[in-house]
Amino acid sequence: MTNFNVQNNDLHVFESLESEVRSYCRSFPTKFQKASGYQLWDANGRCYTDFFAGAGALNYGHNEPRMKEQLLQYLTGDGVTHSLDMATEAKEKFLSAFHDIILKPRKLKYKVMFPGPTGTNSVESALKLARKITGRETIMSFTNAFHGMTLGALAVTGNKFKRNGAGVPLNHTVSMPYDGYMGKDIDSLQFIENYLQDSGSGMSLPAAVIVETIQGEGGINVASTEWLQGLERLCRSYGMLLIVDDVQMGCGRTGTFFSFERSGIEPDIVCMSKSISGYGLPMAITLLKPELDEWTPGEHNGTFRGNNLAFITATEALQYWKTDKFSTEIAVKAEKVAQALARLVKKYPELKGEYRGLGLMQGIALEPGIADQLSKLAFERGLIMETSGTDSEVIKIMPPLTIDISALEAGLQILDECMQEVLVEANNEAQVVNS
Ligand code: PMP
Repeated sequence: MTNFNVQNNDLHVFESLESEVRSYCRSFPTKFQKASGYQLWDANGRCYTDFFAGAGALNYGHNEPRMKEQLLQYLTGDGVTHSLDMATEAKEKFLSAFHDIILKPRKLKYKVMFPGPTGTNSVESALKLARKITGRETIMSFTNAFHGMTLGALAVTGNKFKRNGAGVPLNHTVSMPYDGYMGKDIDSLQFIENYLQDSGSGMSLPAAVIVETIQGEGGINVASTEWLQGLERLCRSYGMLLIVDDVQMGCGRTGTFFSFERSGIEPDIVCMSKSISGYGLPMAITLLKPELDEWTPGEHNGTFRGNNLAFITATEALQYWKTDKFSTEIAVKAEKVAQALARLVKKYPELKGEYRGLGLMQGIALEPGIADQLSKLAFERGLIMETSGTDSEVIKIMPPLTIDISALEAGLQILDECMQEVLVEANNEAQVVNS
């Protein structure tokens, strides 16, 4: 381990000048300086393995060389950086590549809208459009959903703490049980359909249903393919638009470009952000079926919808999807993680872990406090690993998809050591209590 140089790693500027709202820097308290692929280095030169990937914004790793090369060429050539939503060559290339590489082979016909460059802005645009098209007000969302921090997106988010931040009533939404929320043997879709059917349920017919195919922030809850298909059928029966929020699960996180490909459903609207630029640059898109494109010019506007630097890297990122090779590689790594986590759950039965996940979005749900403890211990050993779930009860393994197998195994070995240490600490505490 590198010597800890307090001066280099002094965090007082952040502690004294930056708002208390800062959060991730509390879980990973160091000053980062450099990054490449799946690794980050702090100001002391200490190296960290990244199992967090910018919360899903760095699926292709940090400073991916081919994207960097394209970006540098564009910058040195004085390519347009900012352009509102004016037509630029960079945007044209992205739109054409997205059509040719992603939509066409999947036989998907979507028009691409550029909302403001965040996931939450894509969600806001989707909700607005659904309400406009249907003339209905209510949006159906799900327990433990996370869709963003602006008022519309918060209104469809489950987390009480985040919702309370709004300071105003969050209404015109209805939260329904996600797949598995009512227990393994209860079909929550049947429950939802009862509400939709029953004129005494007190629920207005929703304009749309917004759903994550796997709830990333909500605790790595995976919706089954049957549930997603059933949800699509409900949407069609009751004239509700189906919005898939693929902000975190899109761009390959679950193994395919769109997370809904495994279920064969065809959402009316798809929200994407995070890894769509490929390089961690701000960018979002909202995909809509052409017949839903009832926007009038400027009806959903924003200054930073023409982030051409992001279009340049996003176009390069799409090259990963020209063949099936990338998906195949993700599946191999996902299997490694699944096996390792299943092994850990078995190896440490005292921790009562429950395996969750799919693709390179996997984790273990644990008793309160343990996941936070593991994240802290992992950081001390040079592994950046976040928690998820309303009570931070799940450790979340989401490395860049490009990580190599040996690094993946090394990170999982660190997790193993941390679980062991948590157990030793718990046993020591129990002995103190008993003595
Ligand atoms: N939707 C989902 C599913 C997300 O995971 C997130 C971010 N964690 C958002 C929306 C919001 O995206 P952003 O933080 O870019 O606004």
